[in-house]
Amino acid sequence: MKIPYLSFEKTNQEIEEEINAAFKETFQSAWYILGEKVKTFEKEYAQYSSTQYCIGVANGLDALILSLKALDVKEGDEIIVPSNTYIATWLAVSYLGAIPVPVEPNLATYNIDPNQIEEKITLKTKGIIPVHLYGQACEMDAIMAIASKYNLWVLEDNAQAQAAYYNGKMTGSFGNANATSFYPGKNLGALGDAGAITTNSNELDQKIRVLRNYGSEKKYYNQVKGFNSRLDELQAAFLSVKLKRLQQWTAERKALAAVYHKKLKNIPELILPVTAALADHVYHIFLVRTQKRDALISFLNENNIGTLVHYPIPPHLQEAYKELNYKKGDFPLAEEIAETALSLPLYPGLSEEQLNFICEKIKLFFESN
Ligand SMILES: *Cc1c(COP(=O)(O)O)cnc(C)c1O
Repeated sequence: MKIPYLSFEKTNQEIEEEINAAFKETFQSAWYILGEKVKTFEKEYAQYSSTQYCIGVANGLDALILSLKALDVKEGDEIIVPSNTYIATWLAVSYLGAIPVPVEPNLATYNIDPNQIEEKITLKTKGIIPVHLYGQACEMDAIMAIASKYNLWVLEDNAQAQAAYYNGKMTGSFGNANATSFYPGKNLGALGDAGAITTNSNELDQKIRVLRNYGSEKKYYNQVKGFNSRLDELQAAFLSVKLKRLQQWTAERKALAAVYHKKLKNIPELILPVTAALADHVYHIFLVRTQKRDALISFLNENNIGTLVHYPIPPHLQEAYKELNYKKGDFPLAEEIAETALSLPLYPGLSEEQLNFICEKIKLFFESN
């Protein structure tokens, strides 16, 4: 048996006919940028996210950058970010000349720890970017309360948690603006790069719509120095096909995660993911931790089981961030996760047989190591 870390085989089979039809329709429409397909998907995704507006953009990083720009982030502003996240969250802040101020995660959930945010707030702090990491919703009630107390905006990074909710409310509907990515491997993935912003603010919706299209509302009349960051018609058409399956695929992810939990729970040296009270986990990533991480990766690899490490180096220790002068030990929890984490295969279409095989191999590893 050979089990890749990620495979689109089953889900692609399921949608192939509809994707081909969507391609043909878009092709024949001969309208490839900002047409009916984008409009339709924006409406559908806004509705799905329980927000009033959705703006389709070129990718998730741009969704973050355009949101920050629309929120009027300026050079020297301080923005609260998780120490444990994919680097895109930090990069967006840096592109605006603002300063990412890291806050450590809760070591059980891996998401930003609301109890550690207040001590990082200064007079320069403008906003908080919670990241619903690995598919688990952050503790949004606590985060929104802090934002409101200090008059900060919130920008959710919802790239990994489409379809998740916190206390019954969808992720991507809490913040002033919320960014998401439809990178192919995300829970809702396009067939190339794509992203979106959701918001309930008419003002932010208008601003971001203009920013994504050269700063222009009326062709060749430019109000601001904008970007070219539009969602393609083709990707929008494909995303509409896939959005219809998101609920079903999410249920499948949760069912697979439940099997992992059941089969792996009695291994003392293996830490399984924990979901906070009131939070929902849509298992974009099934991340486990062990001190024997590297040996386990090799063992699974020898048994043709693919794994990944999310992420081997936390942003503060990346070469790209040497200007911030952080050193090893500055964010010990993020570092601990980077040193001990590995992600197991989990995606719609992964069979019970494959899952059993993975669990048997993991048990065998810990029995003999
Ligand atoms: C994938 C991802 C992004 C960036 O998305 P792209 O579409 O690749 O630009 C941002 N934040 C997080 C947490 C992500 O996982």
